[in-house]
Amino acid sequence: MKRPLLDATTDELRDWLGRNGHPPFRARQVNRWVFEGRATSFETMSDLPMDLRRRLDEEWAVFATTLVRHHTSPDGTDKLLLECPDGKRVECVLMAEDDRRTVCVSTQVGCGMGCVFCASGLKGVERNLTTGEILEQVLMARNFLPAEERLTNLVVMGMGESLANLDQLIPALDRVCAPDGLGLGQRRVTVSTVGLPEKMRKLAELDRQYHLAVSLHAPTEALRNELVPVNERVGLSAVMEAADAYFRRSGRQVTFEYVLLRGLNDRPQDASALAGLMDRRKAHVNLIPYNPVAGLPFERPTADAIDRFVRTLRARGVSVTVRKTKGREIDAACGQLRRRFEAGAGVAAPS
Ligand code: SAH
Repeated sequence: MKRPLLDATTDELRDWLGRNGHPPFRARQVNRWVFEGRATSFETMSDLPMDLRRRLDEEWAVFATTLVRHHTSPDGTDKLLLECPDGKRVECVLMAEDDRRTVCVSTQVGCGMGCVFCASGLKGVERNLTTGEILEQVLMARNFLPAEERLTNLVVMGMGESLANLDQLIPALDRVCAPDGLGLGQRRVTVSTVGLPEKMRKLAELDRQYHLAVSLHAPTEALRNELVPVNERVGLSAVMEAADAYFRRSGRQVTFEYVLLRGLNDRPQDASALAGLMDRRKAHVNLIPYNPVAGLPFERPTADAIDRFVRTLRARGVSVTVRKTKGREIDAACGQLRRRFEAGAGVAAPS
């Protein structure tokens, strides 16, 4: 099998070039072709010598994943389903809004966190994605942008628990932000986590400027234990402390995500308790009206209930936004496209 190019660091590629009798600057050229030039094969890298292009092609794959599904929804959201060399499938999404062009990537096949309302975790976690597999999602989705448009934002909010795969994720994000990568500002990258305190601290110590989003979903220990089972192990206060530590170290305000589930966490007392938790914290709350998942009993609250929730928070001085749902027609909520594909196509889920 060919080596996935994006799983190698630029230094590793340079070493390989050296061993094959080529100057090290060729690595930079290859990078430029892939990241800027949107090349998907070595053949098209016209300023490389022919023999090098052939040698590269014998040994390396520019992309190791293949696109197996691509949907565009009426609002212009593109949803991609990629298949890894071992047959596992992952989703990524490209969203366009005003001047923003955002890609959302997955970090794992499945998810081990078990949030009760989420489609990604229904069958547990199968494996971590590699750095190259994460980068390929970014680039494959970006390559759907019109030639004159650039990627402006990256969110790590697809399938999987981002911080459970920190070791593969960070090199991918660093590459996206590197001048010889996509040159994206670190502040334009958002890492979303279920809230793993130790990993949040580890991320803080890496001293990047990534924006951290913590999936809170409940303002009390008891309710969070019900909705986000991993909370039984970590505890709400440890999550909040780690978020505070991230803010102190990075200077970046943390966002708390809160999926609104009808009758479960959208009640006036939930809004009040959430406001209490945000009191004296320089933080932001992003409410996500639930995207129903086939086979799960959860529902999105009424527009009135959402409105009431927002007003309660604002009245208490909490900075709050409601996420607009994009790509609902194409199952753009985590794990839903893969699930539909595997059910509908009659393909046995990879075990
Ligand atoms: N593991 C990371 C990334 C998950 S996806 C995390 O927990 O943050 C990003 C967000 O989408 C999370 O807040 C997740 O709880 C939420 N989510 C999952 N399924 C959803 C659904 N069906 N509707 C709305 N939001 C959902």
